[in-house]
Amino acid sequence: MEKIVYHFGGGSADGNGSMKPLLGGKGANLAEMARIGLPVPPGFTITTEVCTYYYDHDKSYPAELDGLVHEGIARMEKLVGHKFGATDEMPLLVSVRSGARESMPGMMDTILNLGLNDDTVKAMAEATGNPRFAWDCYRRFVQMYGDVVLGVQKEDGEDLEPFESVIHAVKVERYGKNISDAQLTAEDCQELVKRFKKLVLLRTGHAFPSDPWEQLQGAIGAVFGSWNNERAITYRQKYGIPAEWGTAVNVQCMVFGNTSNESGSGVAFTRNPAVGTNEFYGEFLMNAQGEDVVAGVRTPDPVSKLAEGMPSAYEELCSIRKKLEDHFRDMQDFEFTIQDRKVYMLQTRNGKRTGIAAFRIACEMEREGLIDWKTAVKRIPADQVDQVLAPVFDEKAAAEAKVIAHGLNAGPGAASGRIYLNAARCIDATKRGEKVLLVRLETSPEDLRGMIAAEGILTARGGLSSHAALVARQMGKVCVCGVQDLEIDYQARTITIAGTVYNEGDYLSLDGTAGLVYAGKLPTAPSSIIQVLINKTRKPENSRSYRNFARVMEWCEKATKLQVRTNADSPEQAAVAVAFGAVGIGLCRTEHMFFSGNRIDFMRRMILSERIDDRKEAVAKLLPFQKSDFKGIFKTLAGRPGTIRLLDPPLHEFLPQTKEQQLDLAHKMNMPVELIMRRVSELHEFNPMLGHRGCRLGIAYPEITEMQARAILEAAIEVQEEDGVEVHPEIMVPLVAFKRELDLQKEIIDRVAKEVFAAKGRSISYKVGTMIEIPRACVTADEIAQTAEFFSFGTNDLTQTGLGMSRDDAGAFLGTYQNLEIIPRNVFASIDQGGVGALMRIGVEKGRSTRPKMKIGICGEHGGDPASVKFCHKLGLTYVSCSPYRVPTARIAAAQAALEEEKD
Ligand code: PEP
Ligand code: MG
Repeated sequence: MEKIVYHFGGGSADGNGSMKPLLGGKGANLAEMARIGLPVPPGFTITTEVCTYYYDHDKSYPAELDGLVHEGIARMEKLVGHKFGATDEMPLLVSVRSGARESMPGMMDTILNLGLNDDTVKAMAEATGNPRFAWDCYRRFVQMYGDVVLGVQKEDGEDLEPFESVIHAVKVERYGKNISDAQLTAEDCQELVKRFKKLVLLRTGHAFPSDPWEQLQGAIGAVFGSWNNERAITYRQKYGIPAEWGTAVNVQCMVFGNTSNESGSGVAFTRNPAVGTNEFYGEFLMNAQGEDVVAGVRTPDPVSKLAEGMPSAYEELCSIRKKLEDHFRDMQDFEFTIQDRKVYMLQTRNGKRTGIAAFRIACEMEREGLIDWKTAVKRIPADQVDQVLAPVFDEKAAAEAKVIAHGLNAGPGAASGRIYLNAARCIDATKRGEKVLLVRLETSPEDLRGMIAAEGILTARGGLSSHAALVARQMGKVCVCGVQDLEIDYQARTITIAGTVYNEGDYLSLDGTAGLVYAGKLPTAPSSIIQVLINKTRKPENSRSYRNFARVMEWCEKATKLQVRTNADSPEQAAVAVAFGAVGIGLCRTEHMFFSGNRIDFMRRMILSERIDDRKEAVAKLLPFQKSDFKGIFKTLAGRPGTIRLLDPPLHEFLPQTKEQQLDLAHKMNMPVELIMRRVSELHEFNPMLGHRGCRLGIAYPEITEMQARAILEAAIEVQEEDGVEVHPEIMVPLVAFKRELDLQKEIIDRVAKEVFAAKGRSISYKVGTMIEIPRACVTADEIAQTAEFFSFGTNDLTQTGLGMSRDDAGAFLGTYQNLEIIPRNVFASIDQGGVGALMRIGVEKGRSTRPKMKIGICGEHGGDPASVKFCHKLGLTYVSCSPYRVPTARIAAAQAALEEEKD
């Protein structure tokens, strides 16, 4: 560690905006704002390396830190002309805030108004001539410090937070009712400080620290400590933020939004983060500190209202808005305080936005010349693309439904669900399979798990930058907040809207794009992009979101190197994927075709046959079905490549397992039920996933491979003849571990091909390749590639076999593994790059050592996960293949991978 404390303020800074890993997002951008001349109160940042040191050294600090903190405070004292701990003049007060490399809104701790004690508060009262203000700051400080640093928490059986209980008691004793905090007098606040301190002593056994330096030390420790609180850990897991990043700590001069009605605090976005409109968008609370806005306890005014009350401050904010966008060239989310009509900037960061807003902002900024198209592509959060494809309420049904309340449109989209009033019950209900809405007065970070479980969030209080709104938008959840007509009775578990009572478990519907609440459950309709692109029920010129989407997709096309195919088992699925820009099919799972209609009966007959002739007869019955399915798919592909995989799953999956099903089948097939029972028990496997499946089936029952090869090749020739489109099928053999397995299957396919070509009097080119989904296949890929003309990584099985974790059973412990940070993400959703990824690398290198230009893809679930797509790009794969609705996500991730590499 070279330098562990970085100063900012007074028109200069040691750090800059590119130092986020070291200074955290907040620290780096405070430095950057100071550099470009924005009004930033001075302060210093303690680096994230100190956080790592803190955890590595039993919660202690590097020896030099104490001296550097003193130096930092001295520099601040000089810049603002106040002294830390002064008792004869206005004292310097500071805030102590967390700030990780990526913002984690509300998850870590903050302490404001630090430096106050029984003496400095008097000096502050005298210097400002405003005792009420001074004592209000003091009581806020003791409350926050008591909660965050000293750990005075709600105990079992307490309804209110302990400090809130004290406030409530004082209000009722003195006024006979629950007045607002703003109505508390200096004397009330003084009394609160006294009682708060008593509470601290009672609960912790220690007196509240009065020495400002001791306070500062405690606060720095608490902020580093909050990196590992439960909320922060949950959040990191959800967003894949590594634990080793750590947080920085920012110590900054306090400015006060609560001095009078000429002061206040606000949070603003340079554009609308919910829908992307280019408008100054934010909110402001008069006579309040910043935490009041974010906590959502009072519903703030829109920032535009400042134009009336404080026009010069508003004008300054407008010019700051422009300066921020011109400088950072991205939508900013910033916090400001106005103290006695003067504007101060406390933070700026790239604003979180919904998927919908991301497309619009990227396209409009490109048009405005703020960014180029490549940057625009990089700005789309690939994992939020599904938001723009998500359903909306059916227009007709919504027009006929009753709007019961209006609120703020904090998170766009449509959600219906049963209402629950706390996080735990939301989670329980989703475990029962219910769709739920979380309804709260306001949300706090404790509600995070409930928000993750819910389809949508409804709150009575709080504005567009409240915790609920911020987190909901980021998670892509529908959110309506600040619904003033909503009353909540947590005890009775009811809510009341306009006189009507709704119980927990009742249905409501939320339109987060318009900010509307409907009674009951509303049907949904496809998003406008789907209406234009897939259903063709809307014209492109009538959908701005479609036009933005299409533009981004065109850019992706220009940038990408990795192709995107789709996993599709039907012409309909293939058509959707092609409309989204898939260049072919990467995996057609033929077994899915056997489940519909009476095909399953022939399949069962085939499995139950004990004599080869019976089996051949049953298999022959399946051929026409398979052929017509393949023809449908080839037609839809219209010349694009299609990879068809031979039968893969364990046979017993097709057989009836319960007595009733077995009797029914016996009756249908005119067979003794005993025979069925015997075959079912013969086919029973303890470990079907590692049992008689994949190419092991085609090896034991070559007639299945024969039939499938015939169906594929005949379909290909007929489509070519009938429709004049080129078809070059790629026949894929699953679960190969030994070259010889593939050789045997290829022999059959090649023999059938000769027969088909002879019978049809024409031939086509086809390829035979294999799935690589067993570690042995990766490490012998050079041998397998002598036979295989292409590879496709089946990372579902490769994860299962590489990690020795059953893909069907791992759910039981994967959550714990993530909690304990053994794995950063679900390995069945995002490639375990260090393990499975290393096997893939071996497979690619060995495969291409035999066939240098070999086509290699991936068709496991990971093919639609942005981080995995980027990894596949780095491995040099030819394509990724994913489910049709994830094609746009994969295309964006693939384009981003290419653009990021360009930069490197
Ligand atoms: C895989 O294993 O990744 C794969 C695509 O095959 P399946 O999921 O059908 O086993
Ligand atoms: Mg597989």
